[in-house]
Amino acid sequence: MNVAVIGTGYVGLVSGTCFAELGNQVICVDNVQEKVDRLNENEIPIYEPGLEELVGKNKAENRLSFTTDIGMAVRESDIILIAVGTPETETGAADMSFVYKVAEEIGRAVNDTYKVIVNKSTVPVGTSEAVQQIIEKQQPEADIDVCSVPEFLREGSAVKDTFHPDRVVIGASSIRASDMLEELHQPLTGQIVVTDPRSSEMIKYASNAFLATKISFINEMANICDIYEADVNAVARGMGLDHRIGPKFLKAGIGYGGSCFPKDVKALKYLAEEKDYHPSLLQAVNDVNEQQNRRMIEHLTRIFDDDIEGLTIAVLGLAFKPNTDDIREAPALKIIEDLDAKGANVQAFDPVAVDNAKQMITADVHYADTALDALKDADAAFLVTEWAECKALTASQFKEQLKRPVVIDGRNALDPGIMKAEGIIYHGIGRK
Ligand code: NAD
Repeated sequence: MNVAVIGTGYVGLVSGTCFAELGNQVICVDNVQEKVDRLNENEIPIYEPGLEELVGKNKAENRLSFTTDIGMAVRESDIILIAVGTPETETGAADMSFVYKVAEEIGRAVNDTYKVIVNKSTVPVGTSEAVQQIIEKQQPEADIDVCSVPEFLREGSAVKDTFHPDRVVIGASSIRASDMLEELHQPLTGQIVVTDPRSSEMIKYASNAFLATKISFINEMANICDIYEADVNAVARGMGLDHRIGPKFLKAGIGYGGSCFPKDVKALKYLAEEKDYHPSLLQAVNDVNEQQNRRMIEHLTRIFDDDIEGLTIAVLGLAFKPNTDDIREAPALKIIEDLDAKGANVQAFDPVAVDNAKQMITADVHYADTALDALKDADAAFLVTEWAECKALTASQFKEQLKRPVVIDGRNALDPGIMKAEGIIYHGIGRK
């Protein structure tokens, strides 16, 4: 099939490349010339395991190309996937300006051949209809259907997730569109769920809100475990073996971050409030998450009698999770901001996210080349992202490198028993 993908970020680049690998003819579009130039030179602007090889292979086999010319891409394609950002606005609502601008551009380009326009971006309920109206305003005779096929890939395993999704949700506005989208997605291993566009848009928000709820739930349990000297890891294991609960997303830590959960919980809350429904659960999920980050900083400052001015803190990990260079809404950003405001010096390590972090962090941070270097002569270490390099640090390495043996484990990734046996002052979350 002939497919255009608008937006070559984490979602668009991975989806476009995977659809090319499945034998489709794919044109990827981005409005940032530099990004397109880099992609045309086989340079991948994001870190995503397995992606570089796949882009190179499909370009070489002439199934995948990159352009800034959206008009050409739309005219050449039967299916057009919109995969631009929908970031958070000040009110919590999703910023729809990128999607709507793309819709206008599609509207100017559609010709008389039938096309299916697909929203892959995470968007408010009703967006498919809004996009259809924008296109039809430009071209009242346009022969199109606008559908919703939300994306569920996870950064860090995006290629694998795209080929092997748990499910593909198709929110179709006609049988014709649904048939074409089912054909496109048939080679993927996940079950296909066909529904209407509004329900499909809601499935995406509901799924992310549910996962965020699980995280905030276990974080709240961890905070109660802290008070009653129970171990939240044991609690999570005991709970997770119940099939009705399941073991995933029950890992206590400094809270969720990234470019999806924080904004999607707020956007769903905004959608509800816009219609005078006050979603107290979503509010609580968000509140617990915001407090969790602060709690870990409090653990640290308490050890130093609430005065960390002039101390050096090693921050291990900057990306919002391992195996990605994405630092959008990464807990490390807030932690570094907080440490800096309290007068501490920061030496940070991340294997792939330093370049992105430098663009966001205004504090004067020393970036170390290795996790071990970051620890050198620091007064305390703060494990923020559970990269393999950080989890592999041994208790004796912490002890030898740090000036003072203080370790705050924001991901419960280290063994408290071993750390304490080495004489380290260790604080995890909800660990006995
Ligand atoms: P991103 O910011 O990485 O990529 C968006 C891309 O769109 C950028 O390259 C940008 O230059 C391009 N763009 C913006 N306006 C454009 C225009 N007018 N024409 C062409 N290109 C344009 O975003 P992302 O992380 O890929 O997320 C995209 C959407 O998918 C969001 O709605 C997000 O919530 C959703 N989503 C993301 C993930 C994820 O893990 N990142 C997972 C599931 C869903």
